[in-house]
Amino acid sequence: MHDAQWTVLDDYYSAALVKQDAALEAALADSAAAGLPAINVAPNQGKFLNLLARIHGAKRILEIGTLGGYSTIWLARALPADGRLVTLEFEPRHVEIAAANLKRAGVADKVEILQGAAADSLQRLIAQGAAPFDFIFIDADKPNNPVYLELALQLSRPGTVIVGDNVARGGAVADAGSADPAIQGIRRFIELMGANPRLSATAVQTVGAKGHDGFALAIVER
Ligand code: SAM
Repeated sequence: MHDAQWTVLDDYYSAALVKQDAALEAALADSAAAGLPAINVAPNQGKFLNLLARIHGAKRILEIGTLGGYSTIWLARALPADGRLVTLEFEPRHVEIAAANLKRAGVADKVEILQGAAADSLQRLIAQGAAPFDFIFIDADKPNNPVYLELALQLSRPGTVIVGDNVARGGAVADAGSADPAIQGIRRFIELMGANPRLSATAVQTVGAKGHDGFALAIVER
């Protein structure tokens, strides 16, 4: 098996199971046309996140890293009618594209995009006494993953599910001596998850249209 076959199989799963609609396709097309990097989750991964949030019955979702709002749409569609999603994004241009994509997908009324450095937005949410989130998806700048985990825990309750994307990076995360701050950020994130008595966690590797990568998954126990 190699990358080309992973993509063919992802396409097969997506066609047979994911059935992405016009709004999701347009979100990707408009993000590409606007020059946003294609670093969104794949369609089958978006559906995976959607199913996880639904299985969990999440009513309040926090996303760190919006890009063009592709994963945001998948997650917002997991919410009940009175559900809310807060998504954090640094780049004003990404916020602009995401807002249009969310509106076309019919989920803008459930979603608040907070523009700025995610660590600042998280600190503000904590200071404002925001209600805990049920589901938190961490998918922004990887060197800050340890910071995001610590702050996310302050916005959690027992039962909150935390998912982190890109925890394999083609296997590079196995390299303890890596000089890449993203790799070190992911490694520290994994190690903090493992060491925190409030968390029960695992990580799984994935292959597909996005290459070899993985998700970390944790539940807040107390
Ligand atoms: N979750 C998106 C999806 O799957 O559709 C992809 C998010 S992309 C991998 C990461 C995003 O995080 C980018 O849009 C980037 O601009 C944003 N980002 C990077 N550093 C950030 C920071 N310090 N604060 C907030 N957002 C940041």
